Amino acid sequence: SPGDIHAEVVVLGAGPGGYTAAFRAADLGKKVVLIERYPTLGGVCLNVGCIPSKALLHVAKVITDAEEAQAQGIVFGKPQVDINKLNTWKESVTGKLTKGLRALAKQRKIAIIHGTGKLATPHLIHVETSEGAKTVPFDNCIIAAGSSVTRIPGFPYDDPRLMDSTSALELNDVPQRMLVIGGGIIGLEMATVYDALGSKISVVEWMDQLIPGADADLVKPLYRRIKKRYEAIYLKTKVTRIETGKAGLTVTFEGDNAPKPQIYDRILMAVGRRPNGRAIGAEEIGIQINERGFIPVDRQMRTNLPHIFAIGDIASEPMLAHKATYEGKLAAEIIAGHKAGFDARTIPSVAYTDPEIAWMGLTEREAIQQGIDYEKTRFPWAASGRAISMARDEGLTQLLLDKKTRRILGAGITGVNAGELIAETVLALEMGADMQDISLTIHPHPTLSETALFAAEIAEGTITDLF
Ligand code: FAD
Repeated sequence: SPGDIHAEVVVLGAGPGGYTAAFRAADLGKKVVLIERYPTLGGVCLNVGCIPSKALLHVAKVITDAEEAQAQGIVFGKPQVDINKLNTWKESVTGKLTKGLRALAKQRKIAIIHGTGKLATPHLIHVETSEGAKTVPFDNCIIAAGSSVTRIPGFPYDDPRLMDSTSALELNDVPQRMLVIGGGIIGLEMATVYDALGSKISVVEWMDQLIPGADADLVKPLYRRIKKRYEAIYLKTKVTRIETGKAGLTVTFEGDNAPKPQIYDRILMAVGRRPNGRAIGAEEIGIQINERGFIPVDRQMRTNLPHIFAIGDIASEPMLAHKATYEGKLAAEIIAGHKAGFDARTIPSVAYTDPEIAWMGLTEREAIQQGIDYEKTRFPWAASGRAISMARDEGLTQLLLDKKTRRILGAGITGVNAGELIAETVLALEMGADMQDISLTIHPHPTLSETALFAAEIAEGTITDLF
């Protein structure tokens, strides 16, 4: 019909995966149509994920740093939180970025259609927009439709006091007593925010450790700190019932450490995310979807229909923005005829809690499971001059290395700014660095980055300076 746009590349979803793919494809000379159901670009990450959570975590850090400065002889009054102003600022952060994306898309002459897209045939996508239905015939499609919050069935989701990460980020008020269900990265990041703002936090986690993806020794410094700050942490425990009432939400627990039923003002449900694979008409046109809703792809991000690609949260775990952007770029390059494939050795993970926990490459648990002949070297931040001078010496930096080749296999860092520090070890892994490479690299002193140098020097037996 008139007004239909033929796309050389149509991208479904404008999150980090989708906008990156669209930009790269346009830069490589392709005529690109980008379909997004929300009014802004940026997907979960920019609008209701990575970025707003980090804006609030920044504020949380300012508050707790001010509290803790008492020990260094600096006393501030109790912080007064102006929720409206805080929200306005948070929205200005995401606003800057989403507007920036729109400008970048315009520069590249990418056609953006706002509406809900659905694959109709292997070469046609239907879009429901506010101005009616549109169709986009295409040569290649990149599915980047992301993921949504998982809901355990049977809980009273129509009660606004039962929040998910999106409503928790809206920050309508500061509850007195809050329960976080799920001790993973998202749950604990939001717990960090609400704790700093003054809520009494409890966390319940079904596994025997918080942040189950990370090695247990990395999580310990975080556990020790929040155990003191929070009201309770229940491990190996689950919530079986939530009842709504005037006084609050009454929660029934079950498991090894279950308390008797408790009443909370708010609950944050953060038990994971599921891919949007079933909501875009993919199966109907013959694209395979696995039992968990992911769209399986090969090393070139191709689905079983070779001209249709899938990237980001909808394609596989880990559901992380930097994995989505890497894959988005790759898919665009493959479509443009580049000979390329997914060959990153690792996708780093970061929990932006306080302290932060970051890890990459092989975890120790995986090394043991896979029977790998590894060695572990670690440097406790209690011996780092910089960490001590920041009054935050609870962290640690540890490296796993191959016993024979001495090459780095993995790394884990817990402490302030661990998320920044892990990047050096990612580069080391990508370049096949061994312990000598790291130990002979001059690191600036005094920095937290030195802790990787010291860990390597310990492995090499060449350490002379502890502070
Ligand atoms: P998404 O960002 O989910 O984007 C998909 C887009 O597709 C959405 O905009 C959606 O509206 C659109 N869409 C879906 N279906 C359709 C349709 N049928 N038609 C049109 N449009 C459609 N990751 C990190 O790496 N670091 C972090 O610090 C971090 N923090 C997070 C904090 C929170 C609270 C949450 C929830 C997530 C966080 N993540 C973080 C995860 C990160 O947000 C995701 O991994 C990332 O957004 C995935 O990108 P994507 O492009 O695959 O999909």
